Amino acid sequence: AAPMVAETDATAKSLGYVADTTQADSKKYPKHTKDQMCSNCALYQGKTAPQGGCPLFPGKDVTAKGWCSAYAKKA
Ligand code: SF4
Repeated sequence: AAPMVAETDATAKSLGYVADTTQADSKKYPKHTKDQMCSNCALYQGKTAPQGGCPLFPGKDVTAKGWCSAYAKKA
């Protein structure tokens, strides 16, 4: 597996990425809900795996339970 995205990475900070969706900044991102997570985001490459790629974080993995402000519900 690829190295995990750190919440302190510059891209992670700018997108508000958190490894645990329940920790998302609800003041900054009022549209966030706790049922939104990488595992049900259209960009998540990990299918049912606990971690997987996301095109916004090349060469790294995000957590299935993670979230960022580019979240797009999987159709
Ligand atoms: Fe997770 Fe989707 Fe954000 Fe990628 S775009 S980090 S899969 S919520």
